[in-house]
Amino acid sequence: MTTIKSPIQNLTATLTRPEVSLVVPIYNEVESLPQLIKAITSVLTSTQLSYELICVDDGSTDGSAQLLKEHALTYPNLRAVLLRRNYGQTAAMAAGFDYARGHAIVTLDGDLQNDPIDIPILLAKLSEGYDLVSGWRQNRQDKALTRLLPSLIANWLIGQITGVKIHDYGCSLKAYRSELVADMNLYGELHRFLPALAFIEGARITELPVRHHARRHGYSKYGLGRTFRVLMDLLTVLFMRKFLTRPMHVFGLLGIISFALGVGLGLYLTILKLGFGESIGDRPLLILAVVLILTGVQLLSFGLLGELLMRTYHESQGRPIYRVREIVEINVKNNKEN
Ligand code: UDP
Ligand code: MG
Repeated sequence: MTTIKSPIQNLTATLTRPEVSLVVPIYNEVESLPQLIKAITSVLTSTQLSYELICVDDGSTDGSAQLLKEHALTYPNLRAVLLRRNYGQTAAMAAGFDYARGHAIVTLDGDLQNDPIDIPILLAKLSEGYDLVSGWRQNRQDKALTRLLPSLIANWLIGQITGVKIHDYGCSLKAYRSELVADMNLYGELHRFLPALAFIEGARITELPVRHHARRHGYSKYGLGRTFRVLMDLLTVLFMRKFLTRPMHVFGLLGIISFALGVGLGLYLTILKLGFGESIGDRPLLILAVVLILTGVQLLSFGLLGELLMRTYHESQGRPIYRVREIVEINVKNNKEN
């Protein structure tokens, strides 16, 4: 059911939309929080932009949630969103996106590794006409073997597979146009692939060098185990990019090739058997023919299922299969009159 707002309600809703929403996921960052909120407030106040700071507590157990609540009662621009339990950084960011009302959205980490001073620089770049500006951490202050090396490989691999060549996918400091964020659904640990998802949605993407600091308080929530999860998510993104709107083209083609090869081999063996009376029962070729035919049928059915699922995906959410950047026309009423 859709609720229809009066024009005045609509107007006030747009008037009260801040220019920028800052989204910060927080999981056990109690020592960094006060300094983080202060730093962000002072940078944003100096820019004179209207803003809201959305801190999403991701089920912290160290008192971050309590502290956040107290701060939300003293800082008028701070909205504290407290999740019921720990869902992970992607879900925390997705919650932040859902509650953000700004025209632009900037995400950053809650551990002070990103520097709020970079926020206005990213926003300036965004206003040049980009939909997404991604930070590129200079002099990254993380452990070489467990963090920097996997990240180097991952960035290269993601670039190759997704076709979006930016240097630092893992940097949380990013600025988005809000319409873009509304079009993207986040699952698993897909926040890392936001530029790739944005690219699928036709976004204009660029990157800017940003500062990076060593973690002063608390501990990193990730280790080497993340590499595997990133690889799995990469497969999902690859699938989404290639097959989302045309699964039958891919599976159907493979299926028909496999099926045709199988039938061809089967015919050849039938001719040998019936025409020349050869025994074919113990030939490996027979097994190959059967496997190819079965695989072909399965791939074809998979493609059909994919088509059905894809239609449900788009239609159940009212997602069109295209994205409009803008519509330009002289006022509709005039058009009708002419
Ligand atoms: N984070 C979160 N939920 C989690 C893990 C992390 O909200 O389950 C937040 C964390 O508080 C931080 C950001 O995500 O603000 C990045 O986490 P972290 O600094 O541990 O990652 P790293 O910088 O080491 O890659
Ligand atoms: Mg960090």
